[in-house]
Formats: sequence, structure tokens, C-alpha cells
Amino acid sequence: MTIYWERCDFCGQHNATRECTMFPGNYVCPHCCLACMNRPVCPNPVWKFAFELRPATRPTRKTAGKEALLDLLSKLEEGK
Ligand SMILES: [Zn+2]
Repeated sequence: MTIYWERCDFCGQHNATRECTMFPGNYVCPHCCLACMNRPVCPNPVWKFAFELRPATRPTRKTAGKEALLDLLSKLEEGK
């Protein structure tokens, strides 16, 4: 299988690219697609990321992760 690396029309770096939905004829790499200012209004971003497929838990994720870690640490301390 051959992977074609094209030059991104937005950042100019050689990367995996797909044709942009908002600007047909331009090829965009995942980084530029994610950082694109038109992304909120883009009908179909060509690069999709795993976290976008899940329900939005972003504001609470950091706190929940910290609490889970503290809980795990307290359990480890109790065990010893
Ligand atoms: Zn790019």
C-alpha cells in the first residue's frame, strides 16, 4: 500500500492531505483542518478526530481525571 504525502495548501508542509470542503481545489492537512477558523461553519470537515465523535465532556474531563487519579492514589495508600 502506498501512502501519498502531498503538500498542504495551507501550511505548505508535506503531510497527509484531503481536499478541503470549504475551499475545493485546496488540500488540507489534519493540523490545518483542526485549526481552521471556518471549522465551526464547515458543513463537513474532511479531517475528523476521535474526540469529536464522543459527546462533549470537555469542561469536566480535566476535573474528573484529577479526581479519579486522587481516588486511585488514596486507594493505593490504603492498600499499603
Ligand atoms: Zn497544513
